Amino acid sequence: MTNKTINEFEAKLKAVDSRVNRQLFIFLGITLILIFVIDKLDIKSSKVNLGLIFLLVAYILNAIRTVITGKKKVAEEFGVVCSACGKTPKAFFMAQAMRKGKCPYCGGVINA
Ligand SMILES: [Zn+2]
Repeated sequence: MTNKTINEFEAKLKAVDSRVNRQLFIFLGITLILIFVIDKLDIKSSKVNLGLIFLLVAYILNAIRTVITGKKKVAEEFGVVCSACGKTPKAFFMAQAMRKGKCPYCGGVINA
């Protein structure tokens, strides 16, 4: 893989991250509005707090899933796969694996 392609690949991985960051920003905005409304309506219930915690956990899980599936798609597009074991590096190790050109599983050469 040429330097230019590596840069393109890393830019696409970063785009996935910034998309998730934007989603986080929107989510925090919605949560703040919800907290404000709940406070204004003077609702005092442990169910409300549980609901907010559930929302937070659901968001975090969704964000992780979005990062993983998004980066997997980028890897497929660029054909990032180990020539020795045939595995694709996990989302969070992808950029590093590409830069080193080494498979994080077996140390084989990454094809691309
Ligand atoms: Zn490998």
